[in-house]
Amino acid sequence: LFIAFEGGEGAGKSTQAAALESALLADGYHAALVREPGSTKLGDYLRSYLVAKKPIVPLAELLLFEASRAQLVTERIRPLLDDGAIVIADRFAGSTVAYQGHGRGMDLEQIRWLNDAATGGLYPDMTILLDIDPLVGLGRLMADAADRFEDEEIAFHKAVRQGFHEQEDKSGTWCLVEGNHSIDDVAAAVWARVNPLLPE
Ligand code: C5P
Repeated sequence: LFIAFEGGEGAGKSTQAAALESALLADGYHAALVREPGSTKLGDYLRSYLVAKKPIVPLAELLLFEASRAQLVTERIRPLLDDGAIVIADRFAGSTVAYQGHGRGMDLEQIRWLNDAATGGLYPDMTILLDIDPLVGLGRLMADAADRFEDEEIAFHKAVRQGFHEQEDKSGTWCLVEGNHSIDDVAAAVWARVNPLLPE
């Protein structure tokens, strides 16, 4: 079982992904948490460049996210799934559609092709979109708005949110959970979605 969390800045993805992993482990499931970009040596290396305020053109940025994803799928996600684990991903291919596609305006067909190549066609069984107004999400991060993405204009984040909404509308495997509630309430909403998918 492969579950991804998607959403904008400050939506609570990392908190909820970790909470879900803990809940699954407590119930005796073999669960593993990965994040994008990262969770491999190459991914961590690319992440440090991507979140720093270093010069990068949009196409290079797109390719680095895809490179991180290709490494993560092959090195971690596929072996874990083969081993029977429940894999929880903090961001996946949907972030590239939303950020590089809707946010930066890159060609969506090209992104789809690159996502298919990087994932080898492996997509989550369920993607949980933690939805939040960018103003609220960015407000949560104000204290540690350390990376350049969080400095972007609010219009960029609104376009990203729209990009997530469109994917949720179009795909039967996406579901929307409102992020603008307490950690426990959001975790309960997430659990209600995940629970029916769990193996006996
Ligand atoms: O998930 P996290 O917030 O740690 O992601 C790191 C940064 O990378 C975020 O600021 C996010 O906006 C950015 N990002 C991006 N395009 C992606 C994935 C993440 O711009 N495809």
